[in-house]
Amino acid sequence: MKSFQSVYINGSFLKPHGTETQDIISPINGEVIGRLTYADETDTQQAIAAAGAALVNFQKTSITERKEYFKRIHDEILKRIDDLIEATTLEYGAAKDRAKWSNMISATTFQNQIAVLENYPFEKTVNESTVIMEAIGVAALFTPWNSVSGSIAVKIAAALAAGCTIVLKPSEFGPWQAQIIMECIDAAGLPNGVVNMVNGRGDIISRAIMESTVVNKVSFTGSTVVGKILGKQAIDTMKRVTLELGGKSANIILDDANLNTAIPMAVQACFMNNGQACIAGSRLFVPEEKLDEVKRILLDTAAQFKVGDPSNEDVKMGPVASQKQYDRIQQFIAAGIEDGAEVLFGGLGRPEGLENGYYVKPTIFTGATNEMQIAREEIFGPVLSVISYKSEEEAIAMANDSDYGLMAYVSSADIGRAKNVAGQLKAGRVLVNTLKHDPFAPFGGYKNSGFGRENGSYGLEEFLEAKTLIA
Ligand code: NAD
Repeated sequence: MKSFQSVYINGSFLKPHGTETQDIISPINGEVIGRLTYADETDTQQAIAAAGAALVNFQKTSITERKEYFKRIHDEILKRIDDLIEATTLEYGAAKDRAKWSNMISATTFQNQIAVLENYPFEKTVNESTVIMEAIGVAALFTPWNSVSGSIAVKIAAALAAGCTIVLKPSEFGPWQAQIIMECIDAAGLPNGVVNMVNGRGDIISRAIMESTVVNKVSFTGSTVVGKILGKQAIDTMKRVTLELGGKSANIILDDANLNTAIPMAVQACFMNNGQACIAGSRLFVPEEKLDEVKRILLDTAAQFKVGDPSNEDVKMGPVASQKQYDRIQQFIAAGIEDGAEVLFGGLGRPEGLENGYYVKPTIFTGATNEMQIAREEIFGPVLSVISYKSEEEAIAMANDSDYGLMAYVSSADIGRAKNVAGQLKAGRVLVNTLKHDPFAPFGGYKNSGFGRENGSYGLEEFLEAKTLIA
């Protein structure tokens, strides 16, 4: 059984001061694959001290030096890509293709940061003044379990590009993937103390972080509930905050859309990453008169979405991440049935032949309304609610009638019409006739999906302070 590392401070993996342990269970079969000994407050205070000491020199490094570090981290991640895919599959349950894609993105995030640095003016003239963009200081980075290496990469790359030093708190439910990324950073040979990691209970580690006056910035990706707690706590020490939180994204199929491409894309938008994606398009708005045709294509598409052991190449959806996730998704499916939505595909329980592990049936509800619990709350599982609409205005109003605003999707044969609808949606990103990712354009949410943006120059600026010089 593996023993995962929870503490990396000042350039070394250390035995944690904390003693509490947690078994790491593979969602594929429910078997224990390793153990994590949690870092505690003492470990966290040491990590903060190391980051504080390293800041003195790191904030003065040149752009050329930072670019060199990014090249090295990128290369080290590529060297370990097979290990990362194995960990993402066994620890999290990702399908092979998804595991490869997401970990390759983690590597390219560091390469992309080189281009961001080459194009970003750290000094500019504004009217009669010179404005200098400076590193905020020590940054604490909190990341979730559903996109371990991707979330870590996007935050570390932006913080380092700005000249910040780091205390990383990855999810305690993905320690294997986090450890490999830290080993890549270690191998890249950054100065000691620039990147530190403490993994353990969020509330314990965050207490030490939030009380510290050495930490100047918190960048958090995770649930809205926890994000709000940290956001409130941050004010006491005036930490700058970026919050990347949950979503309940709308997908509007306009009445002129090609359903044979739009509906399979809509299924993919909801079921991606085993349905555990903040950007999941989990509310599908379809024109009332097209409902029968939509149902037929939904059934055809969902039937091809093979669920099973993600070690098999042809599997598109693995198990959900934990027993807790399994139970949560079952409760939502039960609530949908109870509220009167019709199960078009899937439903309660495990898929046939997958009795071990945390497999759920990808589920599609029709006859849902935007008021039902399944349409209002983030399920964080492969559950799609299909809601029919009578007019474009009604579709837009229902799409915007949500506590969240992370992503939205629009399909139409008329790009001008689709863009007009996109312009009326309250979401940080709108994808029109595509599921493409743009790693340089801002990513982040409206409303309860958070505040601040990641990626490209927008992500970099989250780690910078503006200083005006008037001479
Ligand atoms: P979570 O909020 O439970 O945990 C996120 C991180 O915060 C983890 O490192 C965790 O240990 C820590 N944490 C947990 N409780 C804490 C507390 N009381 N105080 C301080 N830290 C605490 O979220 P999760 O379950 O790991 O991730 C799923 C959520 O993340 C979903 O809501 C999803 O939508 C969201 N998410 C958002 C994005 C985005 O970019 N907007 C991306 C991925 C996931």
